[in-house]
Amino acid sequence: MRVGIPRSLLYYKYLPFWKTFLVQLGLDVETSPLTNKQILSRGVEVAENELCVPVKAFYGHCMALRDRGVDAIFVPRVVSVEERAYTCPKFLGLPDMIGAVAGDLELPPLLSPRLNQREKPREFKHQLIEFARERFGLGRAAAVAALENARLAQKHYQQGLLSGRKPLDLLPTSRFNVPRRRPPRSQRRRIGLLGHPYNIYDGYLTQNLIARLEEMGAELVLPEMTDHRLLMQAATDVPKQLYWSYEKEIMGAVNIWTEKKMVDGIVYVLAFACGPDSLIQVLIEHRAREHRVPLMSITIDEHSGEAGLVTRIEAFTDMLMRQGRKKRTAA
Ligand code: SF4
Repeated sequence: MRVGIPRSLLYYKYLPFWKTFLVQLGLDVETSPLTNKQILSRGVEVAENELCVPVKAFYGHCMALRDRGVDAIFVPRVVSVEERAYTCPKFLGLPDMIGAVAGDLELPPLLSPRLNQREKPREFKHQLIEFARERFGLGRAAAVAALENARLAQKHYQQGLLSGRKPLDLLPTSRFNVPRRRPPRSQRRRIGLLGHPYNIYDGYLTQNLIARLEEMGAELVLPEMTDHRLLMQAATDVPKQLYWSYEKEIMGAVNIWTEKKMVDGIVYVLAFACGPDSLIQVLIEHRAREHRVPLMSITIDEHSGEAGLVTRIEAFTDMLMRQGRKKRTAA
């Protein structure tokens, strides 16, 4: 059986885990291609207009997998990844949203284990073992072994990220968004790049933002380079607890970077129509102002143009470079 994993949304976070787990269940795994014009425009055509652009792209990726003739598409229902917190409502409803148009689009069946550990830590283990047993007839020992191998693959991936490598360096066939040339190290400025991985690492949705920033002199600092537990601890430094786990990671990163003066500036990428993003945007702006760290927010949607983006990041990085030169002269 060939199972397709859409190269969108949580792909950038959990691909090593999902892929290893599915392969261990005896499945052939295929991912959809990199986001491109056709994938996004097909997604925009069939998705609700009010949805954020990464979810619209997700629809296009499912259609690309259908065209490749996979037997099923893997769309887990990720409700909660930690106690007393949720993921974005879009992840909770993803199988229903795509399921509602699956007939019209002639999509293959969806594989959608439900993952919810809001009440109990590590509950997802039992949920995935049950999924493996019920859906694929695996014995308990084999299901446990599949899970363990998936955990190790994910751990290996996360260790790579902690050592300073980017998801794009580590995920299969995603070597794009690569700078053509970079200024010498001594002239670079540290820029913290914030946002959901499926936005900032999708070279099509963000017009190769990573490569452009690096070409303009950025030494990028990414949330994935900090231990997850530290991010979560640092995220508590806000007036009210955040409900959404992935927003906590972003908030934790900005709190650590500003507190420890780890960055000279911050670029925050958010999706138009994203509720969670618009809420934490206010908190991020407040934090950056308080610590006098220059911040640029970039809102993306399906109409985002390359020219406007390049002009804005050029102006921002120029300003940071000038600051850097002044500091070096004064020292
Ligand atoms: S967090 Fe925002 S960008 Fe991400 S899926 Fe939810 S609404 Fe879309």
